[in-house]
Amino acid sequence: MAQNRVQYQRGLSMPEFFGTSGSVEQCEVLVRSWRWPEGFSCPRCQGGWHSEFRRQDRLYFQCSGCRYQCSLVSGTVFESSKLPLPSWFLAMHLMTQAKNNVSALELKRHLGVSYPTAWLLKHKLMQVMVDREQWRQLTGRVEIDDAYLGGEVHGAKAGRGSPNKIPFVAAVQTTESGKAILMCLSQRPFTKESIREFAQSSLAAPATLVSDGLGCFTAVRGMGILHEPHVTGGGAASVKSPDFLAVNTVLGNIKTSLAGTYHAFGFRKYAHRYLGQVQYLFNRRFDLRAILGRLARAASQAGPCPLHAVRAAESSS
Ligand SMILES: [Zn+2]
Repeated sequence: MAQNRVQYQRGLSMPEFFGTSGSVEQCEVLVRSWRWPEGFSCPRCQGGWHSEFRRQDRLYFQCSGCRYQCSLVSGTVFESSKLPLPSWFLAMHLMTQAKNNVSALELKRHLGVSYPTAWLLKHKLMQVMVDREQWRQLTGRVEIDDAYLGGEVHGAKAGRGSPNKIPFVAAVQTTESGKAILMCLSQRPFTKESIREFAQSSLAAPATLVSDGLGCFTAVRGMGILHEPHVTGGGAASVKSPDFLAVNTVLGNIKTSLAGTYHAFGFRKYAHRYLGQVQYLFNRRFDLRAILGRLARAASQAGPCPLHAVRAAESSS
């Protein structure tokens, strides 16, 4: 089965990881190649002539034109951190190869750092994933369902509107035969206005949206998107329906993946980031061996994400 090919594919093993990204020098070569593929470019004057030196085992550059000094990691997500690059890479490796969500507590233990340090590192990397997925659009056959975090994820339609749950929509692009391809998750209320916003940002015509009978999904009509409602009666009937097999499978996996993190500090506030991480990993699941490199390159090219930005970055959707 296709699902098994994904689950049993060869990932990036720990020995392979340490063989390619385990040392400071190896990580520096990688970050440098991603950050400045054409060679050093001064962040201030864009000049290329420079000298290099080390301070506290960190690689620095000095522009020969304007004398500006910067470290290899300044201006990247790795900035403002005392953590050496191999610790960042190990965190990225753990976060991208684990089947389920890796908690900040696990990262703290694996990296030998404090909990606040692990938490911040994790959220910075999750934000990189969110940013990489922000333009994701689904097309063709798309199954959609409303769900909640922090409680039963599916099969509990009677719980719609419960104040203790975090509402989100899950949309899965499938093949014509219903096989999952790509996914979009979005924390939002189940109103027509909200679903219209979601459709504008995350669906691209031609698309057929397959949903249950929940009224808010009719909002996509008139937007160039076909709507195919299947009134299932809700609850277990909806979960078992072959029309929603892909989205229900995904929702089950999300529930398993995030089950251990609901109690995490600030989970409610940062739920959009946990969802973004799940979406990022799902949409890259066909090539597990490549994910570390893709995430590390994105982190090398993304701007800094200081603590106040991590704490302030509430869901904008
Ligand atoms: Zn310069």
